[in-house]
Amino acid sequence: MDLFEYQARDLFAKHGVPVLGGLVAETPAEARAAAEKLGGRVVVKAQVKVGGRGKAGGVKLAETAEEAEKLAEQILGMDIKGHTVRRVMLAQTADIETEFYCSFLLDRTNRTFLAMATTQGGMDVEQVAAETPHLLAKIPVDANVGCDAAKAAEIVQAAGFPAEVAPDVEAVLQKLWTVFREEDATLVEVNPLVKTTEGVIMALDGKVSLDENADFRHADHEALVDKSAVDPLEQKAKEKNLNYVKLDGEIGIIGNGAGLVMSTLDVVAYAGEAHGGVKPANFLDIGGGASAEVMANGLDIILGDPAVKSVFVNVFGGITACDAVANGIVQAIALLEGQGQTVNKPLVVRLDGNNAEEGRRILNDANLSVVEMVDTMDGAAARVAELAAR
Ligand code: GDP
Ligand code: MN
Repeated sequence: MDLFEYQARDLFAKHGVPVLGGLVAETPAEARAAAEKLGGRVVVKAQVKVGGRGKAGGVKLAETAEEAEKLAEQILGMDIKGHTVRRVMLAQTADIETEFYCSFLLDRTNRTFLAMATTQGGMDVEQVAAETPHLLAKIPVDANVGCDAAKAAEIVQAAGFPAEVAPDVEAVLQKLWTVFREEDATLVEVNPLVKTTEGVIMALDGKVSLDENADFRHADHEALVDKSAVDPLEQKAKEKNLNYVKLDGEIGIIGNGAGLVMSTLDVVAYAGEAHGGVKPANFLDIGGGASAEVMANGLDIILGDPAVKSVFVNVFGGITACDAVANGIVQAIALLEGQGQTVNKPLVVRLDGNNAEEGRRILNDANLSVVEMVDTMDGAAARVAELAAR
C-alpha cells in the first residue's frame, strides 16, 4: 500500500525523522485555517500518490494564510498524471540550500534490502540513475543487521555527502531505517532530503509503501487506507472472502480455481475478437466451495458491475460436483430476486467434470430465462462474447 505524503510525514515524525509541521485540508477554507496554525507562510502541496507534483504545478509557496487559501483552491481538483487532487498538505517552509536524495527499499532481484542515496536530490532519481549512475550510490543492507552507524557511514561515504552534513545525514538514515523496519515498509524514500540555509538536515518530501503481508502486526495501518480509492465491489468481495478482480471489458467471469479462471480469461478475450473486441469485465474465483451462498455472493458482485453485459460461469466439477454448482446457481438467482434484484443479464453456463450431466439436468429443469448452457469452453466463450456485443 502506497501512502500519501502527509501520512509518510506522520510516520517520519513518529520515528524521529526531522520533518516540518504539516496539516491536511480538503477545502480552501480548511487550508487557510491550517496555514494560520502553521504560522502563515506555508508550502501548499497536492496529495496524490504519484511523483513529479512540483513540475506539474502541485507544489506552491504561499506567503500568507490568505494566499494559501487561494493556492489550495487552484490545486484542489487538479489532475496530476490521472490522479485527482482531493487533499492538500500545508507544510511549514524551509529555506533550502541543497537537495539530496535517499531511500531504503526491498530489492527483490537480489533478495536483500537496498539503500540508495545521491547528493543530486530534487529531480527524478530515475534521471540521475540513467544519466549519471556513478552519482547514485546503491548499498545492500543486511536484514539481520539493518542500517546501523557503520552502514549509515558507508552510505554517506559512497554517495559523497559533504563532510559537514555527514553526521546529521547518518543520523537521519538510521531513523529512516527504523521507519522501514518498524512499520514493515517495502519503500521509504526522501526526495528532497534538504540542508537548510541554517545547516539543518530534514526530510521535505516522503514516499512510503507498506507491506500488506505484515498488516496483522499493524492494527494502526488500517486507518491509512484511502477509502475513497477502494472500488466498492472489490471491498464487498473482500468482505465475503471472494477473489474478485476488476478489469475493463464487458464480460463477467465466474470460475472455480485460479487456473481455470485464468484460461477462461484468455479464451473469452480471444472469442471477443470476433465480436467487436469485447473483453472480460472482471473475474471472480469462487474456489472449491460453490455453494448457493457463495454463488449468490459471486453473482451479486459480478452483476453489480455496470460494465457487465453478459456473464460466463465456467465450472469444472471436482470435490464440489456440478449438481451442487447447478443448485447453487438456481438458488442464487432466487436469492437475489428475493432481495429485490432483477437478474436480467444473460448467464452462459458451462459445466463439466464431476456430475456434469446431473448439473445440466438441474439447470434445464429450472428453466431460467437468463441461463443458457453450452457444453464446451470455446463454445461458451463465443456465445458469451456474442451476447456481450449485442
Ligand atoms: P514532488 O515534485 O512530487 O517530488 O514534490 P516535492 O515535495 O519533492 O516538492 C518539489 C520541490 O518543491 C522540492 O524539490 C523543493 O525544491 C520544493 N519545496 C518543497 N517544499 C519546500 C519548502 O518547504 N521550501 C522551499 N523553498 N521549497 C520547497
Ligand atoms: Mn519529491
